[in-house]
Amino acid sequence: MLKGIGVSPGVAIGKAFLWGRERLSPPRREISEGEVAGELARFERALARTTEEIIQIRKKIAQEIDGEHAHILDAHLLVLEDVLLIEETMRRVEQEKVNVEYVFSDVLEQLARRFETMDDEYLRERASDVRDIGRRVLRNLLGRKRKDLSDLDKEVIVVAYDLSPSDTALMHKEKVIGFVTDVGGKTSHTAIMARALEIPAIVGLKDISARVNRTDQLIVDGTNGVVIINPDEETLNRYRKEEVEIKVVERKLAELKDLPAETRDGHRVELVANLEIPEEIPSLLAHGAAGIGLYRTEFFYLNRSGLPTEDEHYQAYKSVAEQMSPHSVIIRTLDLGGDKFTSQLEIPREMNPFMGWRAIRFCLERPDIFKVQLRAILRASTHGNLKVMYPMISGIEELKRANQVLEEVKEELRKKGIPFAEDLEVGVMIETPSAAMTADILAKEVKFFSIGTNDLIQYSLAVDRVNEKIAYLYEPTHPAVLRLIEGVIEAGHREGIWVGICGEMAAEPALVLILLGMGLDEFSMSAVALPEIKKIIRTVTLKEAKKLVKQVLTLSTAEEVEECARKKLLEIDPEILRRTERK
Ligand code: PEP
Ligand code: MG
Repeated sequence: MLKGIGVSPGVAIGKAFLWGRERLSPPRREISEGEVAGELARFERALARTTEEIIQIRKKIAQEIDGEHAHILDAHLLVLEDVLLIEETMRRVEQEKVNVEYVFSDVLEQLARRFETMDDEYLRERASDVRDIGRRVLRNLLGRKRKDLSDLDKEVIVVAYDLSPSDTALMHKEKVIGFVTDVGGKTSHTAIMARALEIPAIVGLKDISARVNRTDQLIVDGTNGVVIINPDEETLNRYRKEEVEIKVVERKLAELKDLPAETRDGHRVELVANLEIPEEIPSLLAHGAAGIGLYRTEFFYLNRSGLPTEDEHYQAYKSVAEQMSPHSVIIRTLDLGGDKFTSQLEIPREMNPFMGWRAIRFCLERPDIFKVQLRAILRASTHGNLKVMYPMISGIEELKRANQVLEEVKEELRKKGIPFAEDLEVGVMIETPSAAMTADILAKEVKFFSIGTNDLIQYSLAVDRVNEKIAYLYEPTHPAVLRLIEGVIEAGHREGIWVGICGEMAAEPALVLILLGMGLDEFSMSAVALPEIKKIIRTVTLKEAKKLVKQVLTLSTAEEVEECARKKLLEIDPEILRRTERK
C-alpha cells in the first residue's frame, strides 16, 4: 500500500499501464561482416529523416509563431551533426559488428552524461536536448511511432513518473479509469484535469512508476490518496463494496441539483463550475452548475497542430455560451506557461516558469495572438451571457493595457459592423499577492474579481504548487492567505463589485465555511465537488460562518485554523465525514 496525494476522488480497480518517457533501449544483436554496410545505410537514412522532421518543425514555428523561437531547434540540428556521435557510432558498428541502434544509444548516453557533468549550467541542460534528439533517431531506426493516451484499446490505470496537463487532456475516461504518478501537487493542472474528467487520481507517490510492473493489478483510492498493488481478495471486495456506497451518496446529493445555494438563514451565493474542455458541459450541468466561473481556454491550444483560428475560438465560445445560457460563462483569456505548455508556441524553457513569461504577460507581448482570442470572445458574446477575465494581473498598468487591447479590438469590430455585446463585463483574477494588496485600485477598473487561490497560495507562501516535496507547506489556511482573501473581498465590496473564487480551495468543505463567512459572493470549482459544497452551504447559517471567521482570524497557524474550521463543520454537519472520507 502506498500513500500519496489524492487529487481526484473515487475508486478505480484495474490493470497497470506503464507510461512515460519511452525507454528506447534496443537489444544488442551481433551482425555479420556482410550486414555492416546495410546497418550504416540504415543509420544514415534515420539521421536524414530526423533532420528533415526537425527542419519541418522549425519551419512551422518560424511561419506560424515567430522566427525568434525557431532557433531553439538549431540546438537539435547541431546534435545531429555532432561528429563524435555520428562517427563514433559508425566506427563501433564496423569494429564491434553490433546492430546500429544498440551502438547509437550507447554512444548517445555517454555524450549526454558528459554534458551532464559539465560546470556550465547552459551546457548541462543540453543533455536533455541530446536525449530528446536521440529518441527521435532511435524511433526512426526502429520504425516506431509514439503511442498517446488517446488510443488505448483497453481499460487501464496509467502509472507514470509525471503527466503533463496536455497528456491528461487526451485521456478518455472509458479507457483510462485512473492514474497515479511519482510527482505532482494537488493544484497542478494535471490534477485539475483529472477532476474535470472524473478520473480517480493520485500524485506525489514518489517511486510508484518503479515499483509497479506491467501485469500488476491496482486499486486507486483517489479519495484517500491510497494505491494498493496486487490486492488480496478481501481488500478487493471491500473496495468493490465501497464503489457501490459512493454511488449511493452521489445519488442522494444529486437531489439538490436544482435547489439554490442558500444558507439556512437565507443568504444566497453563486455556485458555478470551472471548465477546461467543452466536453465537460453535460457533466457540469448534471452536477448542478449555475454557470461557469472559470473557463480555462488554454486547453484549447494544447494537443493540436497549429494555433486555433479566430473562427475555431468563436465556434467553441458560441457553443459554450449557448449550452450554458441563460447562465453566465466567464472566459479566462489565455493562461499558458507555468505548468501548461504547447509545442505550438515554443515558449523558451525558464528557470521559474510559474513566475515567468506566462498568461497576460505573454498576451500583452503577443497582441497578434491575444487579439484573435478577444475578437472571438466579443463575437460570441451575442450568443449568451459571456464575461471576460484576465489571468495573472500583477498591477493596474497591466490591467489597463489589457483593457486597451480589448478596446482596440472592439473598435475594429465596430468599424466592420460586426455585432458584439457592448456591455461585456470584464474582471480580473486575483492570484498574485501584488494584485491582492492593490485590490482597491484594481476594483475601480473592473466589474468583478475571481480569486485564484491555486496561484495566490503558491506566490504568497513561496511554495511551488506542483512540487510534492513541499506539498506540506502548501496551506490554504495559512493566516497570510486568509488575510489576503479577506482584504480582497472587503476591497471589492467597498467598490461595489462582486468577488468570487475559482481556485481549488473553493471545493474544500471546511474552508467553504470560512469563505462564506468572509462574504464571498461566488464559488467556482470542479463540477464533481459542487453537490457536496451545495449541501454544506445549505446546512449552515451565515451567522455561524461569520462567527467562525472571527474566531479563525485570531489564530496563528494554518493547522489551528484548519482544526477549528473542521470542528465547526462537524458540529454543523455530523454526516460530512461519512460522505467525504471513506475507509
Ligand atoms: C488559480 O490560480 O487559482 C486558478 C484558478 O487558475 P489556474 O489554476 O488555472 O492557474
Ligand atoms: Mg492561476
